[in-house]
Amino acid sequence: MKAALEETVERPETQKYLITCLKDLVSIPTVVPPGEHYRKIVEWLIPAFEDYGFGCERIVMPEEVYEARQKSEGLSGERVNLLATRDFGAPESIVVYTHLDVVPAGEGWSTSPFEPLLRDDRLYGRGVADSKGSVASFLTALRIMAERGLESRYNIRVALTTDEEIGLYSGLCFFADEGLLQGDYLLCMDGDNEGICVATNGVMNWELMVSGKSCHSSLPFLGVNAIEKAMLVIQELGALKKKIELRESNVPCSSDITKLTGQRQIKPVFNVTMINGGVKENLIPPRCTLRGDRRYIPEEAIEDVVKEFEDAVETIKAKQGIELELHCKPGFPPMFTDPDNEWVSRVKDAASAAYGVSKGVIGVQGGLDVAYVVQRTKQPACAFGVGRSIESNAHGSDENVRISDLNAYVKFLVTLLTGMHPD
Ligand SMILES: [Zn+2]
Repeated sequence: MKAALEETVERPETQKYLITCLKDLVSIPTVVPPGEHYRKIVEWLIPAFEDYGFGCERIVMPEEVYEARQKSEGLSGERVNLLATRDFGAPESIVVYTHLDVVPAGEGWSTSPFEPLLRDDRLYGRGVADSKGSVASFLTALRIMAERGLESRYNIRVALTTDEEIGLYSGLCFFADEGLLQGDYLLCMDGDNEGICVATNGVMNWELMVSGKSCHSSLPFLGVNAIEKAMLVIQELGALKKKIELRESNVPCSSDITKLTGQRQIKPVFNVTMINGGVKENLIPPRCTLRGDRRYIPEEAIEDVVKEFEDAVETIKAKQGIELELHCKPGFPPMFTDPDNEWVSRVKDAASAAYGVSKGVIGVQGGLDVAYVVQRTKQPACAFGVGRSIESNAHGSDENVRISDLNAYVKFLVTLLTGMHPD
């Protein structure tokens, strides 16, 4: 059976369909910000899903919801999402999800980011791995199933949504709040193919305002230099960072990360990532703002994360006599699905069979909007995607995906959806 499936995937017509789909999707620049081309990509996808018997709905985030929860400077255009469903008369239902937006191209490409190019058995272009490759693979899996008369063992609800890359209230979050994601299990196709991801870190952005007193820079003793104070604060925060990053989750990280860093479990992270201050060269700065993120493991509670940071800031204030004001902005919560859950086993088995190597259960230190969903729907969720965490260079220049990885992903989907054993 495996040979037969492999043969079908590698047939020239199948390959042509897969590559053409992916090229078409990548050439619609759903870059966010601004996120202006969602309607265009949804209109492209609808006939494709209808070909395989799916009913399609364009779900536009209402203006008032968008304004209140998502819109920010630099965003424009309608938030058009796709919900494609098909009832196979199966006893169980699944939600299959990924996002349609991509991050901006950035610098340093050797190819044109929105004119996908096939080179050395890889396709290059913005979004080929994150995450349009999985959409093209999913359509190809449906095509193979249709051709071979294979029925899905699940009723399928596909959510292809907006603004994952920019957060905070993505199309998927809206779907969850509208009750559009009913199903027994959730497969998130946004991810890497190194392991079955069952855990993600939660995200909390923070801002710390350091206050001083401005004066003429030739008489600095008349004021308080907020930038110099901020340097002290950064040094002091180093102790907090060290304490946080000594912690470990019980969930392992991918073997690629272990190879690169020696790290075996996912960890919490604390970063200072932005600094703003100063008015003019000859003016002692009255204010300096530090910003950063704190990523917390599923074993940590957000209340404790906030409390720990607040306490550290109080200590710095007392010790250094600096005026500080902390604002914590919690983002996506962490995600955690029990690795022994039946759904995890099915995804793991399908992936291992399709790739011909054992795929383990892993966690990642990034955050996913799926976590917001799972918090609401309580579905067992796994993330398994088409690209490779380091090699594909998602979010970087020359984002690429191996054709062999696309093919393996198609096989994985057919195996999972039909429940057939590929051997
Ligand atoms: Zn992604």
